[in-house]
Amino acid sequence: MERHILSKSTFMRGVQCLKALYLHKKRPFLRDKLSQEQKAKFSRGINVGVIARDLFPGGIDVSPKTPFQYPQSVAKTNEEINAGQPIIYEAAFQYNKVLVALDILVYADGKWQGYEVKSSLKVSSTYIMDASLQYYVITNAGIPLENIHVIHLNPDYVLDDQLDVNRFFVTRNVTEEALQNQSFIEEKINEELTITKYKHSPKIDIGLQCHDPYPCDFISHCWKHVPAESIFNLEAFTREELFDMYNSGIIYISDIPTKNIDTPLKRLQVQAHLEQKEYFDSDGIKDFLGRIKYPVTLGKMLVMKSAVPQYKGTRPYEAIPFYFQGHELTREGNITRTTEHYSQTGETPDDFAVRLLNELDKAGTILFYNMSDELQALQFIKRQYPQLSTTVNDIMVKCMDLKHLLDQLLFYNPTLGSKPAYEELSEFFGLNEEYHNLAIQSDIMAGVGYTGLFNETDNEKHHEFYENIYSYSQFSVQLLKLFLNYLQSKE
Ligand code: SF4
Repeated sequence: MERHILSKSTFMRGVQCLKALYLHKKRPFLRDKLSQEQKAKFSRGINVGVIARDLFPGGIDVSPKTPFQYPQSVAKTNEEINAGQPIIYEAAFQYNKVLVALDILVYADGKWQGYEVKSSLKVSSTYIMDASLQYYVITNAGIPLENIHVIHLNPDYVLDDQLDVNRFFVTRNVTEEALQNQSFIEEKINEELTITKYKHSPKIDIGLQCHDPYPCDFISHCWKHVPAESIFNLEAFTREELFDMYNSGIIYISDIPTKNIDTPLKRLQVQAHLEQKEYFDSDGIKDFLGRIKYPVTLGKMLVMKSAVPQYKGTRPYEAIPFYFQGHELTREGNITRTTEHYSQTGETPDDFAVRLLNELDKAGTILFYNMSDELQALQFIKRQYPQLSTTVNDIMVKCMDLKHLLDQLLFYNPTLGSKPAYEELSEFFGLNEEYHNLAIQSDIMAGVGYTGLFNETDNEKHHEFYENIYSYSQFSVQLLKLFLNYLQSKE
């Protein structure tokens, strides 16, 4: 069989940007390295496809041992179909130089049904396009699919004693949309196949497609003409506004027409960048910091958001807290007490919730940096254990988020931008090397790592993970303290 040129992922890459497809095929060495956090994101929900097989049990898995063995999978799929096998997992087909592997193919009541499984809570337009391509290849390869479906997670599913796959998953028939997309798919495949024969990359300038639907991995290559101090540093403008300006030849902040600077946040950011000066609202900062009750607890909480609920009573992707580290800080700037709580993976969340609330209940102000996960975790405890809701409400009142100063336009530093993550804060405070030496560098990595421990029997791995989240949380609190001191110096 002639080797395929496009797969589902390369086709979808070409839908996003033909240049991204060309570079992927011809200049893969130009690709940006995946960050640790991106790797962690990719590994989330990896088992969902296998779990969905229980919706159609008894099938045969024809997935290849390595990605190079897909031609064998296509042949094996064909053999199984000819042998009358009614359920095939990872059924592979090739047509018009495009290879696809469908999660579940079912033959029932004389009709073929296709199912593609996604680990998200709803069906996006990208998933519909993806299913449309499957439909195109499979039907043209000779299997007249009656319907193509997307199976996704049910956001309202609550785990009981055991996972009930029939309620955990939601199946949506997307055949109508797939049929409407067929001519687009065919044209796009032909266009993509032509592009892959080019000697030079297609002339496509940067645009909205660089981040939509996914951040492209050739940003460093394509964006190298964009100066470090460009309009793209202005988060107060929407991407559409920025590209409208870029497409009309504006790339430097100093060239932005006054009429485009139409909100206080845009004005503030433009001015701060032009003058390379920090903006701070002394009164606003003073008022915010004046609300802190000492000794204040500088806190870091970590949550897991597992696609597959791990505990009875929980939902997919619910924020379940598993770690807290707090450092009690006096008004004079001394740490007088450090505390830590960790929920082992075998422990149920209620034991941990009680310990966590006991700790937080004792604290004065509890200060976090970007506390959205923390609030979701407290909401989870409230919903899950209504008897603790009064305590949770009292604790929520005591929680403050240093990032609110940025969100409320009380502080803006052109180097940090308006949404600095730990990486930017580390660089700002000269702790770049320490940050990059951390084995865990983000909350997502911590959450994914914790979820991965549920089936881990090696105690060493558990211990190593615990050490890593301890260091990450300690470092996060150190940054929080440095940022607090910095802002106090501006009062
Ligand atoms: S960075 Fe933008 S222009 Fe370059 S390949 Fe990616 S999507 Fe296309």
